[in-house]
Amino acid sequence: MSEERLSRVRESLGARGLDGILLSGYENCLYVSGFTGEGHLVITGDAAFVLTDSRYYEQAGGEAPAFELVETPGSVHEVLPELVRGKGIRRLGFERDIITHGQFLEMSQALGTSGCDLVPTRGLVERMREVKSDAEAGEIRRACGIMVRAFQNLLPKIRPGVTEYDLAVEIEFEVRRLGADRIGFPAIVASGKRGSLPHARPTLKEIRAGEMVTVDFGAFVGPYCADMTRTVAVGDPEPKLVEIYEVVRNAQEAAVAGVRPGMSLREADSIARESIARAGYGQYFGHGLGHGIGLRIHESPRLSPRAPEDGVVREGMTVTVEPGIYVPGLGGVRIEDSVRVCSDGVEVFTEFTKELIRL
Ligand code: ZN
Ligand code: ZN
Repeated sequence: MSEERLSRVRESLGARGLDGILLSGYENCLYVSGFTGEGHLVITGDAAFVLTDSRYYEQAGGEAPAFELVETPGSVHEVLPELVRGKGIRRLGFERDIITHGQFLEMSQALGTSGCDLVPTRGLVERMREVKSDAEAGEIRRACGIMVRAFQNLLPKIRPGVTEYDLAVEIEFEVRRLGADRIGFPAIVASGKRGSLPHARPTLKEIRAGEMVTVDFGAFVGPYCADMTRTVAVGDPEPKLVEIYEVVRNAQEAAVAGVRPGMSLREADSIARESIARAGYGQYFGHGLGHGIGLRIHESPRLSPRAPEDGVVREGMTVTVEPGIYVPGLGGVRIEDSVRVCSDGVEVFTEFTKELIRL
């Protein structure tokens, strides 16, 4: 696996006129090498190195057999000049969205007289990661299976008197109990008027009858994660909220039915956005339709009106479909599935009813 990914990195080096690249993003290094510790990779046309310190040195040898090991006593810039000289690198790419300004200054200084230019690159490995192999999709599908069962187990606990905080702890516990390696992110639980906060942190507020409750949570299986949201009702919410729920549901179902390979990322977003706008709630749907899921909970691509104009939905991408409506002072609704793009549509991994559940 890592041999194939290595050769894809090398192809993009050639395309950019680079002699080598320094990879520093944790997930990017893991994706290309299999190494799960902290460190960097240097990849040239004919060599590949893991740069790491004594804490991970032995581990790196086992996890990344296709790579030579370089022990870094402190920072990466201490070993870079020798590597660059040894391999005759004159143009070394680096990840401009990941390296800090401080690290950049240190590297520039260290390479000062070596005749090697540092060349910023953007999204090189992130784009490779967008399309998942069957094995990767399998891990994400398993994470989703766990999440669906965890949510099912949470439902009886959503009742008047429990706090948002209680529910967040419960769903996180269920996800772990059912076999996830870790939670995807701290669960979002937003009830009543707080539902208008798309990324609400759970509070000690108690759930009351007549409120809607939005629960957004994730799970990791191995290094892969997935993401799911449902909004449910406790008792009978006011009709306006039920109306909003149906608008979001229609938009979400239209997007799930409509997203297919070959369409632009913006077009995918617009399916739900237009549906919500037609119902008169366009101004209350501020975020994008979805995001890639994989080694990170939010990764490329973004299904959004702000996605790159030439960005395209491709078969094998795993993304979320999560429209929402958030009305300050009233509340909000979001419905989110994790899906995989197939040849003629999407496969929904988080298969769970979207009818309004009244508890
Ligand atoms: Zn999401
Ligand atoms: Zn989510």
